[in-house]
Amino acid sequence: MVDQATDIAANLLQLQARIARAARRAGRTPDEVTLVAVTKTHPLETIQAAYHAGLRHFGENRVEEGRLKIPAFREWLATQVGTAEPPTWHMIGHLQHRKVNDALAHFDTIHSVDSLRLAERLERLAGARRAPVPILLECNVSGEVSKYGFALSQWASDRQTRLEFFETVRCILALPHLSVQGLMTMAPLMADPEQTRPVFATLRALREVLREEFPQLAWSHLSMGMSDDFEVAIEEGATLIRIGRALFGERRH
Ligand SMILES: *Cc1c(COP(=O)(O)O)cnc(C)c1O
Repeated sequence: MVDQATDIAANLLQLQARIARAARRAGRTPDEVTLVAVTKTHPLETIQAAYHAGLRHFGENRVEEGRLKIPAFREWLATQVGTAEPPTWHMIGHLQHRKVNDALAHFDTIHSVDSLRLAERLERLAGARRAPVPILLECNVSGEVSKYGFALSQWASDRQTRLEFFETVRCILALPHLSVQGLMTMAPLMADPEQTRPVFATLRALREVLREEFPQLAWSHLSMGMSDDFEVAIEEGATLIRIGRALFGERRH
């Protein structure tokens, strides 16, 4: 077997260089971009190697997987000597209502809040926590039917879509145990990453509109960009990029 830790460290170095170049092209600094290592389907050893390589943000897209891997990782971390800085766990996949409790028990932040009902359920179950749960609002701005998220492909042209979304956002912002940090989107799979640019630019423009409508919030984060399109996403303002294959290689299942 190849030395996985060496591979991950080498992939990370390359990624960091590409992130830095993309950020500079857009007049941004690389430290405005947080790399979320997407460890879905990968075993604990891979997450350990990624942690050793310096990664501190991990993403999983299924609660069932996270509820096994996250506690196992925490136990492993407790056995490590020295300063064992705990990582931040990001729930990046569609969240089913009946899994909200488990999601809250294991994840630090949720990128995939895509309805008022889900937000209200999170609010009810997050009530016992001391600090509000950081969340992002997942937006479907491409109109692709297979994608989750608030259906917002028409927001720029359709006032009604905009007003309804504002009303939903207003309700979510009123939930005291949730802290909205920004927006998340998934771009359609494209042969040329350049083709995804309008999707990312649209999410950024939507954030500007929300900033005007809800200036009490910073709307700091745009979670957008994956292995094939993160450079374009960074040029369009991504602050959180979710990277699996470019770090860990192709997934086997
Ligand atoms: C799997 C996944 C990613 C990472 O995809 P890669 O192409 O492996 O970088 C990012 N975001 C979400 C929501 C995912 O499910």
